[in-house]
Amino acid sequence: MRYITTHHAPATGLRGIGDTSWQPRGACYGMDVEDADATFFPLPRQHQAIAEAKELCAACPVRRECLNYALENDLKEGIWGGLTAAERRPWHKGLEQRLDYTRVLAVFNGRDVHLTEAERQNVIDHAYARGWHADRLAFTLQIGRKHAQELLREAADKVFARDRNLGVPPSPKKKKRKPQAPTTSQPASAEPAREEPVFRPVKPTSAHAPFGKAV
Ligand code: SF4
Repeated sequence: MRYITTHHAPATGLRGIGDTSWQPRGACYGMDVEDADATFFPLPRQHQAIAEAKELCAACPVRRECLNYALENDLKEGIWGGLTAAERRPWHKGLEQRLDYTRVLAVFNGRDVHLTEAERQNVIDHAYARGWHADRLAFTLQIGRKHAQELLREAADKVFARDRNLGVPPSPKKKKRKPQAPTTSQPASAEPAREEPVFRPVKPTSAHAPFGKAV
């Protein structure tokens, strides 16, 4: 079953695409807009304001969701998840290489979570290794069938190139069993064939033949 994340979807600890249901649980939720601006969008040298924002974020139950939201939506200004814009910069840069298996597993379980490039590639490699049909991959990644076919082909090429570089011999192809042609035109009998007794013509022996000698 695939969950399309809505505000009513069961909570999993993972934020789905477009899911902002975590926001009301934030420690800053309901703050006056001007106060929130002053607290979470301070100038780089407003150390007091930065410290206050960080203190609030430190006690926030949705800190992780908040940080992920900022990273995935490329929000490079302000304080999110307790990190300033400067502190988040390396996270923004390295985001596409993030490989979080909880997200990959969540996708296998039908969740529509955000995947980075590395996580998405992991799903494609898994799909190829497990012999997924293109339709299944297309459904999982919410892409077209042709695109899924191309991705599976690329994954196959990658494995082939890797094996060639490592000198791994190609796996032997399984021979298909040919159906055996019937040897006679007669239909096969379900009963085992019975051996017919062989009769040899017996030569009549002479009544006068010497004893122990056949004529
Ligand atoms: S982590 Fe900070 S900015 Fe994010 S919701 Fe919580 S209090 Fe607000």
